[in-house]
Amino acid sequence: MSSGKKIFLAKFWRRVKTTVVSLAILQSVATTLPVSAQTDTESVVTISYTELLANVKENRVQKIDLESNGLAAEAVLKDGGRRVRVDLIARDGNTELMKALRENGVDTAVKAPQQPTLIWQLVSTFFVPMLLIFILLMVLRRLSNAPGGPGQTLSFGKTKARFSPEAKTGIMFEDVAGIDTAKEELQEVVTFLKQPDRFTAVGAKIPKGVLLIGPPGTGKTLLAKAIAGEAGVPFFSLSGSEFVEMFVGVGASRVRDLFQKAKDNAPCIIFIDEIDAVGRQRGSGIGGGNDEREQTLNQMLTEMDGFQGNSGVIVVAATNRPDVLDSALLRPGRFDRQIMVDYPDYKGRQEILKVHARNKKLEESISIESIARRTTGFAGADLANLLNEAAILAARRYKEAIGELEIADAIDRVTIGLSMKPMLDNSKKRIIAYHEVGHALAMTLLKNASLLDKVTIIPRSGGVGGFAKWVPNEEEGLESRSQILDRITVTLGGRAAEEVVFGDDEITKGAVGDLQEVARLTRLMVTQLGMSSLGLGALESESGEVFLGRNMMPQNDYSIKMGDRIDREIRQIAKSCYEIAKRLVAENRDLCDRLVDILLDVETLDGEEFRKIVEEYTQIPEKKTVAVKF
Ligand code: ADP
Ligand code: MG
Ligand code: ZN
Repeated sequence: MSSGKKIFLAKFWRRVKTTVVSLAILQSVATTLPVSAQTDTESVVTISYTELLANVKENRVQKIDLESNGLAAEAVLKDGGRRVRVDLIARDGNTELMKALRENGVDTAVKAPQQPTLIWQLVSTFFVPMLLIFILLMVLRRLSNAPGGPGQTLSFGKTKARFSPEAKTGIMFEDVAGIDTAKEELQEVVTFLKQPDRFTAVGAKIPKGVLLIGPPGTGKTLLAKAIAGEAGVPFFSLSGSEFVEMFVGVGASRVRDLFQKAKDNAPCIIFIDEIDAVGRQRGSGIGGGNDEREQTLNQMLTEMDGFQGNSGVIVVAATNRPDVLDSALLRPGRFDRQIMVDYPDYKGRQEILKVHARNKKLEESISIESIARRTTGFAGADLANLLNEAAILAARRYKEAIGELEIADAIDRVTIGLSMKPMLDNSKKRIIAYHEVGHALAMTLLKNASLLDKVTIIPRSGGVGGFAKWVPNEEEGLESRSQILDRITVTLGGRAAEEVVFGDDEITKGAVGDLQEVARLTRLMVTQLGMSSLGLGALESESGEVFLGRNMMPQNDYSIKMGDRIDREIRQIAKSCYEIAKRLVAENRDLCDRLVDILLDVETLDGEEFRKIVEEYTQIPEKKTVAVKF
């Protein structure tokens, strides 16, 4: 059961319960009502049998009405015509009362016992249940229309696709930068949407579906909007997860509805974001398949087969998990055109930065190239975010334009976290300083390590006490064995410095993240990259998420004995790297102390300054990796 359904049911029962309770109260009120409703004056008091008897005997009763069932009576007293009510003792036939009444010659009448009138009987037998049904209906209707509810429960499966008239997306290809190959491929789609005749005349078939594949934030949604914007056609956008909603059959009917609407508006674009939500491999995941999702997917496949090649509707879908998509989706005739939208490279980042700098004020001195250099691995969305952060910082500092300082701070902020107030506790600060100097020194003195960008002991949000950062390298991902080993050593440098300087007992938990990174890197080397004495063998594959992927368990094709050897190998690598890191600190102890003193003083050192100090003590090896200067 989906969580949506659960929430709906829970809400439903809560409403039903309150309704039932309130109705029960209503009914009990209704059945007690008649008694007081019928006795016309409120002045009727109930008195005891004995009291009545005494009144009769003393001849103070003017008139009495006995109920024929002998259970109650109503009497009028002589003094002021007061009316009283009595519950009688039926068991003895009220002989004593009857006797007294006769003796005193009281006017006695017998009448039918008081009963709820017909109206009230009708009310309680018919009206209340009807009310119940009515209220239940109301509750159902209200729930189904409520935001967050299951949607149009009673008007099943109306598509929520937004119909936006042509210029509505307002986005053109010039707004999308740095992904030129993708743009080129899509240019053709635009041409088709604009001049379909040119293609039909020569009998060319246009792809029905285009699948944009790429990590989040690289501009897939933006591209789809730009196609619609360039071609000036309507843009129907729907997210995959919107298909998969409550009640079996709604997703499928939604698909039908959407395609119908699109055909009526052709030429146009249907954009399905996060298509992996519906298009996942059928019959996979925990607990087997999901009927609803699979029906939706089937419907989508049918629809895509159904419309003729040149109907003018082009389906653009986006995903960052092409590996989990159902193979039927990728068959020719469906999403046969697949376009990679990858992280932008150095040039791409420049282009994107230029697009987003258009509406921002930058100081003259700022070079877009230098920002692009320092933002390896950033997606388009990250770059947009970076410039925005910088603009916010500039505004906060009452500056006219964004300066170099804001850019640098924004980069740290986006990559590492918000900077916090410098620490006050001196002993703690000292430990952190040694830790970071340990990283930075290893980075500087190891031949195959990346170039130090900066080292700081200003804490960041998320428990980061400080950090030593390297200049990102464009070719990351193609690292050599010696580079990975040096990276492990650098990562262990922090803990090594702590141990060398403060001893075994004083090491802190500040290295948790470092150790995790080391574990990841060493395991990668041994089990996936074939970079150990265990030889070439991809012993493990990258494990996908269980919830999305195809396999429940990562497939480990090795024996327990092999597992032992892997563990030993991993430990061996980490250990030898740790020894190197410790030796670096021990051999350069004076330098370390000096660096820590300076760092405690200035709190941040950039790579250039750091290297200058190091050079006074020892020689810095020539870096094999291209030292990017900026
Ligand atoms: P995705 O759909 O791939 O996750 P989006 O298209 O939603 O990413 O991108 C989010 C934002 O990031 C966009 O609105 C845009 O401001 C910015 N952006 C991403 N990629 C680019 C790009 N290539 N060129 C310009 N801006 C981009
Ligand atoms: Mg998107
Ligand atoms: Zn560290």
